[in-house]
Order: sequence, then structure tokens, then C-alpha cells
Amino acid sequence: MIDNGFSIKETDKRMARLGVSGEDISAILVTHEHGDHLSGVARYARRYNISVWASHGTATMIKDIDGLQCFNSHESFNLGGFLVEPVLVPHDAREPTQFIFRSNDMKLGVMTDTGSITQHMIEVLAGCDALLLECNYDRDMLLNGVYPESLKRRVVGDWGHLDNQQSVHLLKQLETEKLQHLVLAHVSEKNNSHELVLDCVSSAIHCDRARLKVIDQDDGLDWCTLTTDINSKETLHA
Ligand SMILES: [Zn+2]
Ligand SMILES: [Zn+2]
Repeated sequence: MIDNGFSIKETDKRMARLGVSGEDISAILVTHEHGDHLSGVARYARRYNISVWASHGTATMIKDIDGLQCFNSHESFNLGGFLVEPVLVPHDAREPTQFIFRSNDMKLGVMTDTGSITQHMIEVLAGCDALLLECNYDRDMLLNGVYPESLKRRVVGDWGHLDNQQSVHLLKQLETEKLQHLVLAHVSEKNNSHELVLDCVSSAIHCDRARLKVIDQDDGLDWCTLTTDINSKETLHA
């Protein structure tokens, strides 16, 4: 599990919908200390006796977890059958990381909560078989929207979030031909719309919008299966 901003009840409900339970989770990785990512971690970890992992900087912000495990943000490590590569990102937290997961020759990238795009991100996210990418806001909607000025400045800043155009700009610099799934995530309910996200991304990387997935904050996302079988493999562009 990566992050948890929900109550135990809500998490259990979302897990049950996917046919799993807290007992199936071997570890929770925490990307950073913001409430939407951290507020549910400690109670869920305690409830199901799950180990919790975070960078040293993030760990300094976590008070209520006994036996918290730290990883080095510059080194890959093995966890739950995956090789986990932390990716440091510019975001207004102590030591925020996102992740690359490798298993069975497959590469999954997870990239949210970053205010700008670094050369390092472009290098490590290239050639993913699946990618979950932040499309947080539409610039015009945010700037003309209801957020107070200080919050607007935070979100658009270099340590805030990616807007649709930045995400598209990042995607265009990645090798995307192996992608079996592209999941667009951390989409603001006030400053963005699923339609806008799908329009931007599908036209930028020339793929059918039906092949893209946008995570709904209420409904979450179903399982996405990655296949190594060349005969049944469908990529975004196939
Ligand atoms: Zn966030
Ligand atoms: Zn954040």
C-alpha cells in the first residue's frame, strides 16, 4: 500500500471492493507527511500489524508509529517481492519521494505530488510498463477558482503540484511505447475535470481516450493487470 488518508472503515470498504483486506498488505510506503497521504497510515498499520516505511525526512514528521522503518531515498530496496526505487521530488514536504516498482521484468512508476519536473524524474520514469501520474489542476480553473491566493501560489509553485500541461510535457519526454496502463491521479475536484485531463493527455500522446484511466476520488480504481505475455499484451498505442 502507498499512503493512506482514510479511516479504517473507509479503507476496508475500498479494499473489499478489490477483493482484498488489510491482512493481505505486507507494508505501507509513505510518500510524504501531508494529511491526504499520512492521516490514515498509523491506525491502519496498527489495526492489521503492517510495517510502515518512509524516507528519513518524512519519518521525522511521523510521531505515532512504533517500529517505523526508514529507507535511503537514494537507494533501491526489496519489499514484498518488489524492487522499490524511491524518487525524490520537489514538493513542500521534508523529504518527499515517489516510487518505481520492479518485478518480473515489469516496471511501474508512481508519480504524484511534485511541483516541477526534474531531469532525474524523466530518466527514471522512462520505459515504464504502467504509470500512475498526477494531473492535479487546470491552470485557468485554479487561477480563476475559489482557492485563496496563498493556496493558489502554493499549488502552482515549483514545490506544489503538476497541472495538466506539465504532466503532458513530462509524458512527451518519456518513452511511453511500453505502457499497458496510464492512470491519471490526484485530480483536483475543484480545479480540474476528468474530461479536461482525458482531452489533454490523449491528444498529447496520440492515444485513444478509452485506453486512459482517471482515478475518481470517491470510486477509486479497479485492478489494472500487467502482462508479460507478448500475445495478450495490449499497450496504450496498440
Ligand atoms: Zn497529495
Ligand atoms: Zn502533498
